[in-house]
Parts: sequence; structure tokens; C-alpha cells
Amino acid sequence: MKKHLQSPVFKIISKVADQYDKEAYVIGGFVRDLILNRPTTDIDVVVVGSGIGLAEAVARELGGLKVSVFKNFGTAMFKYRGMDVEFVGARRESYQRNSRKPIVEDGTLEDDQNRRDFTINALALSLNENTFGQLVDPFDGIKDLEAGIIRTPLDPMVTFSDDPLRMLRAIRFATQLNFRIEEKTYDGIVAQKDRLKIISMERVAEELNKMMMSQKPSLGFKLLEKTGLLPMILPELQDMKGVEKVKGVGHKDNFYHTLEVLDQLVPNSDDLWLRWAALLHDIAKPRTKRFDPKLGWTFHAHNFVGMKMVPNIFKRLRLPQNEKMKFVQKMVELHMRPIVLSEDIVTDSAVRRLLFEAGDDIDSLMTLCEADITSKNEAKVRKFLRNFKIVRQKLKEIEEKDRVRNFQPPVSGEEIMEAFNLPPCQTVGEIKAAIKEAILEGEIHNDYQEAHEYMLKKGKELGLGR
Ligand code: ATP
Repeated sequence: MKKHLQSPVFKIISKVADQYDKEAYVIGGFVRDLILNRPTTDIDVVVVGSGIGLAEAVARELGGLKVSVFKNFGTAMFKYRGMDVEFVGARRESYQRNSRKPIVEDGTLEDDQNRRDFTINALALSLNENTFGQLVDPFDGIKDLEAGIIRTPLDPMVTFSDDPLRMLRAIRFATQLNFRIEEKTYDGIVAQKDRLKIISMERVAEELNKMMMSQKPSLGFKLLEKTGLLPMILPELQDMKGVEKVKGVGHKDNFYHTLEVLDQLVPNSDDLWLRWAALLHDIAKPRTKRFDPKLGWTFHAHNFVGMKMVPNIFKRLRLPQNEKMKFVQKMVELHMRPIVLSEDIVTDSAVRRLLFEAGDDIDSLMTLCEADITSKNEAKVRKFLRNFKIVRQKLKEIEEKDRVRNFQPPVSGEEIMEAFNLPPCQTVGEIKAAIKEAILEGEIHNDYQEAHEYMLKKGKELGLGR
């Protein structure tokens, strides 16, 4: 393992730890990711003794780096060549039933490894000169790493009950690394799932976001569903699972469809919020579902109802209540528009309207809609994608010609008031709306002169004098 510890910081830690006669190890996620060849920016160092003391001594040796000390946690960290290097004293932890905050005491390396969540996260590499690079792996974590297995070092019932966040971490790591959760560990999650309620929603959302940013988020959501955790986190998503039949006619399972959309979006967008939009685009389907004897299953206005559900979901999960949420709402609202457009003859005015409503988010919307095509029928998929190309081309042409993407009325309300000697009133709004309509319908161009003439014409129609 020596060859892996290339960064000069390890040599310095080694030297200083020997000088102070302390055992020091690099441990946890850094070692795991080193072996998996995943990029990392966090180095965690465990010291048998004071982590803060060693951090300060190493920082001095590195030319007086600034150390941030967190006395309450017994940790200290500094930045070195873009890496966060964190030091902590080895500790033993014991838990009480109602909190995931443990009682902490000084401990040995073994104690410290025992408190880790998974075997693959408990690997330690020695940093002292004599044993530099030697692996300390009491739970066969390397084997699990090679076999792709998530397993708790101790009894999973205890591990998960002590800190239920670990259940989500298990699912998150399984998703990120495409690993399997070992059977007993999995059973432990199922048995302890109700303990999740002591975890704050911020923590839950943090794990969800990490799942969302993985290469195949569906893995995580399927695990959340199977283990029974999902109803406590996103009951609305749970409700999407299943197929109802009336007179032998079923609809598609919207839970699996949604996950397919999300996975299909991943290669085309690493925008977390667009991924959330994919997860929530059909969220109102269970609420709007009706069986119509003529039409079969309908989900009337599920986009509007879905858009209105977003704020509650975001609030519950402590996700931002700002323009990110508004963006997700907008995507949910508009998610059917390009597809409807591509089914019809693509008229200029329909494209202009779409551009007007989507504004700068038009590309995100198109990306979402392309991912929304999940038919098993290849010919159908090909046809949709071909039509989407035409829509995209048209969008480009119309935008170049009419610039309605971020529409600003070419004639202002003040001008309308002045032209017809009007006070602020409804008529001003009507004229303004009529000008906008004329532009979107292609009757006039998005141009001051044409809009001004149209305003005069409209005024005349309304019997307004000058
Ligand atoms: P990532 O950076 O992707 O979140 P990580 O494993 O590096 O992964 P951290 O949260 O930085 O995650 O945790 C560092 C190490 O601390 C882990 O590898 C693990 O050994 C330990 N750890 C973190 N959280 C817990 C927990 N809830 N229970 C037990 N050990 C934990």
C-alpha cells in the first residue's frame, strides 16, 4: 500500500508522529477510495492520543499552515494542496437510545475501527515510519471491497440502532459504488427502519442528494423502497408504485418509469435540480388517476398538481425554498409540452409559446423530456427522438428570428397610458396582453415599431382616442 501514499503530507505526518511517539493512521473513506481509484479530497487521520496536538505540529512542519480546531469534537484540520486533512484522536463510542450522538471516550485504533459504519470504511493504513503503508483491516474490508459488498463490522442490529443514519449511508454507498448490501446487513436495515425517525431531514436529504448524483440513482430508490424506508422519506414516490387494473386495462408502473427517466437523464445532465425534477415530474399521477371507459387511464393536469406538491416535499426534506425549487416546479409544470409538440405538426406559434414559457430553462426542459421517453417499442422511441430533433431545430430558428426566450414587452405600460391618455387600469393590461399574444401567434414580430403600430390599432378597436 506504500505506493499509494504519495502525497508529501504523509511523509511529514510520519516524521512528526514518530517524533512525538504517537501512532497515526490514515483511515476510512480516503483509504477506500484510494483502493477503488476514486478521486478524493478528504484525508482523515486517526491519532492514538491527541489529534489536535498532532495536527498543529504537522501544520508547523509544513511551513505554518492555518489550523482550524474544533475542540468539542476533538478534531483539527488544515488545507494542503487542495486536500482537507483532518486529524482526530482515536475514540470509543457508546450510544443511548434516543440520540445518534454517542458518548465518546479516548480509545485505541481498534476501538476507533469498531465505531465505523462499514467494513470498507474501517480500513486504516499506518503512517509511522516502521510500519508505513501497512494495512490494518480487522474486518476483512479489503475482501468486501473486492467483492463489492456493504457490510457492518459489528452486529448490524446494533450498528443501525445506534445511528440509523447508517441505513441511508449503506444504501447510498451501494448506489454510488454499485455494491451489494450483504444479507444480514440488509435484514438489519429492514428490522431497524423505524429508527430513521430520529434522523434530521437535513441528513436524509444530504444522502438523497448524493444518491441523486450517482451514475445510477434508481439503485438507491429501489433499495429505499424494498427496505421499507421510502414511505418515511418520500411517501409520494412510494404511492407511485404499483399497477391498477380496470376491466383488464392497466397503466404503467409510475415508480419504475420515474426511475428509468432519472437514470436516462444522468448521462445528459449533472444538474442536481434537473435530476430532482425528473424524480418528481409525475409525482401527482397517483392523485390525478382516473379510469375513463372511453379513454382508459388518465392523469389529467398531473403536471399542475405535481408542481403544487413540490414546495411541501422540498420543505419536508429541508431542500432550498428558493429559485432552485422554482426551477423544479417549472420543469414539472412544463414536462409534457415538448412531447405534445413533437406529436403534432410543429407550428411556429407553438414553439414560440414554449420558448416564452420556458425562457432560459428551455434546454433543461428538452433534456428532461428526452429522458422521459421510456417506451419499450424501439420504433416509437426513434420516432419521438427524431421529432425532438425537429423541435430543437425549430426552437433554434425561432429564437434567432423572434428572440422570445426571455420576453420583454416591446411597448411598456407607460407608453400605452401616454398614447391613449389613460390612468393605470385594466385596459392597459389588456393592450399589453394583446401585443404579447400577437407576437406569440406570429402576427407581428417582436419589434418595437410593429408593436407600436399594433398598439395603435388595438386602441382604435377599443374606441380609445389619442
Ligand atoms: P463521502 O465523502 O462520500 O461522504 P466518506 O466515507 O468519506 O464518504 P465521511 O462522511 O466523510 O464519508 O466519513 C468518513 C469516515 O467516517 C467514513 O469512511 C466512516 O469510516 C466514518 N463514518 C462517517 N459517518 C459515520 C457514521 N454515521 N457511522 C460510523 N462511521 C461513520
